[in-house]
Amino acid sequence: MKQRFKGQGVIAGIGVGKILRANENLDEYLKSYIPSFVEEEREKVDKALKDVQEYLFTRAEALRRDGLTEQGAILEAHAMIVADPVMRENVLSKIDATGNSLRAVLNAAEDQAAVFESMEDEYFRARAVDFRDVGKRIARAIIGAPEREIGDEPVILCGHEIEPSYIANLKKGQIAGILLGAGSTTAHAVIIAKAQAIPAIVGAEEAVAAILDGEEALMDGETGEIITGPTDEERAAYEEKARKAAAMKAHYIKLKDLPSVTEDGRKVILAANIGVPGDMETAIEYGAEGVGLFRTEFLFMGRESLPGEEEQFAAYKDVAEKAKGKLTIIRTMDIGGDKPLSYLEIPKEDNPFLGYRALRVSLKRRDLFLPQLKAALRAGLYGKVAIMFPMIISVQEFLRAKEFVEEAKKELTKEKKEFKDTPLGIMVETPAAAMTAGSLAKYADFFSIGSNDLVQYTLAVDRSNSEISHLYNHFHPAVLKLVQQTIGAAKEHGIMAGMCGEMASDPRAAVLLLAMGIDELSMSAPSIPEVKERVRSVTMDEAKELLRKALSFEDGESVKNYLEGQI
Ligand code: PEP
Ligand code: MG
Repeated sequence: MKQRFKGQGVIAGIGVGKILRANENLDEYLKSYIPSFVEEEREKVDKALKDVQEYLFTRAEALRRDGLTEQGAILEAHAMIVADPVMRENVLSKIDATGNSLRAVLNAAEDQAAVFESMEDEYFRARAVDFRDVGKRIARAIIGAPEREIGDEPVILCGHEIEPSYIANLKKGQIAGILLGAGSTTAHAVIIAKAQAIPAIVGAEEAVAAILDGEEALMDGETGEIITGPTDEERAAYEEKARKAAAMKAHYIKLKDLPSVTEDGRKVILAANIGVPGDMETAIEYGAEGVGLFRTEFLFMGRESLPGEEEQFAAYKDVAEKAKGKLTIIRTMDIGGDKPLSYLEIPKEDNPFLGYRALRVSLKRRDLFLPQLKAALRAGLYGKVAIMFPMIISVQEFLRAKEFVEEAKKELTKEKKEFKDTPLGIMVETPAAAMTAGSLAKYADFFSIGSNDLVQYTLAVDRSNSEISHLYNHFHPAVLKLVQQTIGAAKEHGIMAGMCGEMASDPRAAVLLLAMGIDELSMSAPSIPEVKERVRSVTMDEAKELLRKALSFEDGESVKNYLEGQI
């Protein structure tokens, strides 16, 4: 049926395909299921748990072999949920109460999902779907229901939430798009979509309620537009858009090996921001020259206790090796009140963005900080690793962090573990750090400007509040001045100046940053070619003239409009 909907576009791109509804409903199975004696019901559960666990581990390994690292990791996490004795005990006690293994499994999974759903943190709320998914998989194993047949056609996955096993069952390249009713951008589905550049729309509740399985649909991951039952003209228009996007991508991929230099030969390093080692695949595909920001938070999330040194070492080593001698900047953990992890025991705060977070936590928690530093220092042997500290506001803080690094080295020496000394840098993302960049530069080996936070703190505009997003502008004269001052201080002290916030991925801003003297721009990998193209299109004289003019405006909107007109 022809309908139009609107959601929030979160990953740009055009999706054309048949709707595949996730969230399988097992009600019919439940109604017709006739339980046996309690003992047999218990045995059925044990067999299902064993079979499902085996299947998940085997499938996870196969996905990893195919290079689908994120999917593999998700199925492995599901296998752990199945293997957890708590799951079995919960199910068995529910069988004792109801005598029905199918109901017991679904209810036990729902109970665990509900615990996660009640959490304040968006990341944990998004994990509820994993428990429901696992519950349904075990239930299907009890009744011997087959895996759903999906075929080879491109599909647009659609659901209030999307069960990760759906994503894991699809072939590489088969997912044409993702439509999520929930508003979460940290759902597994979105994380996977980002790493594979699959167009995605979130917050599309109305569409999800109305769209039927198997319907033909068009979606635009930039505008958030969704059309079902399209007319021939609409389909043709979307196919044309998709062709243009594919041609653009092919054009961009051709830029992959071209140097990122201005017309007159000034070099700027274009690096990738990554969250998990698996993101390196996309980084390499788009020609990233190293990693300007490894957000290590993912290693700390979705678990019950701190990740140990060995686990972190394996992840950092993996990334350093994949970067093949190019700079890999590991940022120490940046978690706090807005993403509370139960094991960090951070009480609820009124202003988490101004609270106990990032380095402020690390400096108080040696049990957290030392293993991370030791793991990063050891990874230094496998590539060109650097360590960077987030949320710095003073020289003292940076010096304290350096003391920890010294302590980490001493421990490693005592434990006879090999490591390599690495450069230590400051993430300039607070106005305090930018204003005192001249002092900080005396002690640091490099700066990387975190514009996402620098803009939010400078303009007093919460970066995640959509109500005031029109006020969030990295061309605001106050931001430009702080950025220029920071780069200037780095140049004066002969240290590298980089940027790893979203501003670095804006081709309009890249030119101004070049003129200010930036050495490195780090961004999500798919943005690299566009920035490279812009860099290659200007001379330094032109860039300087654009900067001079940009700094003459009194408000950010005028700067933006002016630069827009110049491209
Ligand atoms: C930043 O603040 O600009 C940044 C890159 O870090 P994050 O987005 O992880 O806060
Ligand atoms: Mg930040």
